Amino acid sequence: MRIGIITSGGDAPGMNATIRAVARCALDIGIEVIGIHEGWQGVIDGENKFEPFNWRSAGGILQRGGTIIGTARSEAFRTVAGRRQAARNLVRAGIDGMVVVGGDGSLTGALLLYQEWPDHLKALAAEGTIPAEKAHEPAPFRIVGLPGSIDNDQYGTDMSIGADTALNTIVEAVDKLSSTADSHQRTFVVEVMGRRCGYLALMSALATGADWVLIPEEELDPRWHYRMVEALKRGRAAGRRHDLIIFAEGARHSDGLPIRAETITEILKTRMGVEGRVTVLGHVQRGGSPTAFDRVLSSRLGEAAVNYIAGPDPTPVMIGLINNQPQATPLTEVVAKSQEVNAQMDQGQFEEALRLRGRSFLDALDLVKALSRAEPKEALKDRGRICLLTGGPDAPGMNAILRTALRIARNAGQDVIGARYGFGGLAQGDLVEIGWMDVQNWMGLGGSELGAVRHELTTDEIAEIAHNIQAWDIRGLIAVGGLETYREVGRLLDARALHPALRIPIICVPATIGNNLPATDFTIGADTALNNIVNAVDKIKYTASAARRVYIVEVMGRRCGYLALTAGIATGAEMELLPEDGISLHDLQRDTEMLRRGFDSGKKLGIVIIAEESSPYYDTDFVRRVIDAEAKGAFDVRVCILGHLQRGGVPTAFDRIQGARLGARAAQQIMDDISAGRDEVNVIGLAQRGIKITPYAEAMAAMDMENGRPRQQAFLRWRHLADKLAKPGPGEACSNA
Ligand code: ADP
Repeated sequence: MRIGIITSGGDAPGMNATIRAVARCALDIGIEVIGIHEGWQGVIDGENKFEPFNWRSAGGILQRGGTIIGTARSEAFRTVAGRRQAARNLVRAGIDGMVVVGGDGSLTGALLLYQEWPDHLKALAAEGTIPAEKAHEPAPFRIVGLPGSIDNDQYGTDMSIGADTALNTIVEAVDKLSSTADSHQRTFVVEVMGRRCGYLALMSALATGADWVLIPEEELDPRWHYRMVEALKRGRAAGRRHDLIIFAEGARHSDGLPIRAETITEILKTRMGVEGRVTVLGHVQRGGSPTAFDRVLSSRLGEAAVNYIAGPDPTPVMIGLINNQPQATPLTEVVAKSQEVNAQMDQGQFEEALRLRGRSFLDALDLVKALSRAEPKEALKDRGRICLLTGGPDAPGMNAILRTALRIARNAGQDVIGARYGFGGLAQGDLVEIGWMDVQNWMGLGGSELGAVRHELTTDEIAEIAHNIQAWDIRGLIAVGGLETYREVGRLLDARALHPALRIPIICVPATIGNNLPATDFTIGADTALNNIVNAVDKIKYTASAARRVYIVEVMGRRCGYLALTAGIATGAEMELLPEDGISLHDLQRDTEMLRRGFDSGKKLGIVIIAEESSPYYDTDFVRRVIDAEAKGAFDVRVCILGHLQRGGVPTAFDRIQGARLGARAAQQIMDDISAGRDEVNVIGLAQRGIKITPYAEAMAAMDMENGRPRQQAFLRWRHLADKLAKPGPGEACSNA
């Protein structure tokens, strides 16, 4: 079998990672892969745009933005004649199917080509390009689409390739604006991409704590600007030092006319006497190295695309990520639904368009509105307090959880206090009032503003906690942290018989970089840590490209290999050593032998990722010495221990957004428990179908406590993917990344 791959339409970060995954997974099972340059136009132009991939030429591109095979918009492909020419070239090149990475437009074109294929073949037979019998009952042309679009506007996937990177680019830019805006008390107006889809605007508003957001899907009432100005004025009166308005380029007035940056600055000037500063982010949003999420997504979807195209079902599909699993949706459905939303938007049927965006989009919009208020919606009710605390070690995104939990509770009139320095603070009565405006700038802050310290409670301290709960009229507790925090919650639960005051509802919120907690697919902080690792390895690659060298990069995670394995996939590492597998000398020898063969045939750099507690017997230095010895001079070996920089820095968009969602839901759960008189202890998590609340005992029963990780870990299924993408089959020369 021989397949072609194109990247088409608007480019998106992660397209190269997709090309690499498709090419290598296909080569792995003996399918030839032709990269066709310049999208559909290249298919029409033919021959010199067709370039076969081999293992090596599909390497070294994982971290690069853009697309190495180029992309284009092709008017010719919109015509039957153009598509016939494309078919002619595909048949001549012996191509049986295509993987098309692109947006709605590119996939619409792909579907047309599929549908017309028998006609094209007949015509080609008639002109003598192919033998007549080939057009007789032709095999269908195989098509698999992959969603490549920063806008995240595609039906059939929860995330499209490039959206996470674009979102992080926006968030970083807005963070920088916010710091200067804060110093000068300014009003910033930021335009982000999204002609018909408000995903980037909405999610960046959530992640940065913006004060107003305008998206194409929402029908604005004719007096929206009065409301906006009112809200901004109230914000300033309440002590906000700067205002941030984020709008999507496709946002429209109620009459359908576009809202431009000048529209907004004019409103600010005439109604508030404020000089709005405009930033149009433009094409930087498309650029840059893909985030870890986009690299892993590209790799997973690329693999699934090859598996599908090599399988028996000829139905053309798009493979997207649904509920965190690659899933095929017929292309006819993808195209029809996308056209439906677009038509609804064009006809101004906003409500329907919003509904088609799905539940989590709607929830995010509600959340942004609840959080961007200038003051709480309801006055304080006499309902005691909810206490927030963060247990150590800290994790990026904790502040997003705290901020959101506080504001959602306060909006409902619920008083909230914070315990400083985790459970120790709660025992010592180190409790602080947190006001609405205190948390204004918390979304982008790393660590925990409350202080997160590891602390094992003594029995005396547990008694003190019981005392403080009564003294401060604490009716519910939100405990944010990792396994230590979950454990201490368990100890409070066990002490209830002795101290009845401990009978209050408690909810644990997963925040730890290692992603080793039960009842959740992700912990808050893991995405930031993963990106920190990936950025560090990218830098190592630059410095090392001149030498023949293998870097052994030690990453955190204790006895959970999540960071090590996903970082391995995202950086194209040749080896990952995980606690779940342990370290076997035999495997180490075999893999070093593979590395040696690679260096013999021109390889310059190798990356080995090792989790800090991969083996009770062999440490990182031992592994270095084994690899060094087995290298037999073919390359030298260096160790790089990333250490605490992994948990540092500002949280990524994902950690902020998911942190906000969890914080909001946790606050709601505790308030519901309080009003229903329940004293349940629960664990909240991000599950495949949304946020899930699991009883504490049930969640902890899923843990392998000896190793500090869940017994079932879904990410381990990616092990074979890591191998497939980085380890060439026999006979293939090894090459960089
Ligand atoms: P995207 O794929 O990012 O949505 P476009 O809408 O610009 O980007 O589409 C990319 C290319 O796909 C177009 O230049 C054109 O060649 C092809 N295409 C788009 N829409 C159609 C269509 N309705 N019929 C045939 N080809 C199309």
